[in-house]
Amino acid sequence: MARVHNFSAGPSTLPVPVLEQIRDEIVEFRGMGMSLIEASHRSKEYDAIHCETIALIKELLSIPDNYSILLLGGGATLQFGMVPMNFLREDAGCDFINSGAWAVKALKDAKKVGPVTVIWDGESSRYTTLPTPDSLPISSKSSYLHMTSNETIGGIQWHDWPDGKKLPICIDMSSDIMSRPIPVENFALIYAGAQKNLGPAGVTVVIIRDDMLDRCPSNLPEYLSYKTHATGNSLYNTPPVFSIYAMNLVLHWIKKNGGIEAVERANEEKAQVLYDAIDSSDVYYRCPVDPAVRSRMNIVFRLPTEELEAKFLTEATAAGLNGLPGHRSVGGCRASLYNAMPISGVRALAAFMAEFAQANPA
Ligand SMILES: *Cc1c(COP(=O)(O)O)cnc(C)c1O
Repeated sequence: MARVHNFSAGPSTLPVPVLEQIRDEIVEFRGMGMSLIEASHRSKEYDAIHCETIALIKELLSIPDNYSILLLGGGATLQFGMVPMNFLREDAGCDFINSGAWAVKALKDAKKVGPVTVIWDGESSRYTTLPTPDSLPISSKSSYLHMTSNETIGGIQWHDWPDGKKLPICIDMSSDIMSRPIPVENFALIYAGAQKNLGPAGVTVVIIRDDMLDRCPSNLPEYLSYKTHATGNSLYNTPPVFSIYAMNLVLHWIKKNGGIEAVERANEEKAQVLYDAIDSSDVYYRCPVDPAVRSRMNIVFRLPTEELEAKFLTEATAAGLNGLPGHRSVGGCRASLYNAMPISGVRALAAFMAEFAQANPA
């Protein structure tokens, strides 16, 4: 059996050593006489994995002590609703940066909870660019500002951050968490579904500054309040045990490979290889986004015609390069280069692109 290069946007490729360790441990976990996923989530074996996972996130992202790290269910999508339910005050409203498809979804849920002001809107540019942090009209009167660090579908990513001094910033980092160091102290709340850079689907990481917990309304259903999970160390109910265990192994893998700085260097190199393949193709391949905000995680590109795109995608799949179609809402091609994608996969794609362009002139 040969594994293909999997460029899928999510769920996405995982490190092979992690998959192998799961295979080896899934039936009988480290002398426990059963699988970890058969054991109580109150067992000492699970508790050790749970606490170590939280500690690894804290260590790898250099999270200050005044933040809590929560492991929740419901995907990043549940956070679209939980953030406003916990923090959106009717009298103050919240501010939004509308950067693309994921921001639009978060915005839709926030609007159901209270007033939203879009302080920057990328729709007129078809979500191909982002503002500079300094240019944002941030108002200290608002409950919070919501932003999206990396637009997985549009292929744009923030490379500079607003500082969060004027008002709390809540940020969706689902598709680039753990891909580079981040200034955690700029943010009041960070959330990310696991299935891009951290492991399989099923667990969502929430990093919340402790002063925000005082704002959680007491009349929320228990599961929907951040305070419940912070107080109970994310063991208020049964956590997604398998996903947390797999994430634990991914975090160990990151640490073993040199931590977050090494991951960032590798991601920069991978993105460079692919953007070079696009830019050096004499406009055969085109990346439609503003070069200043190109994503290192999700690289979108077009070919001269849709017919050539269809042929490209078919032949790429046949060559073991999977998951390259762009999102159904935008078409074209997209290569997701998450942490677990090796540089060899990116080089194979770049070589295939050069050969294809040569064999199929526009
Ligand atoms: C994938 C993704 C989501 C949705 O995550 P789910 O876990 O499927 O709810 C939200 N935001 C961004 C930026 C994403 O990439």
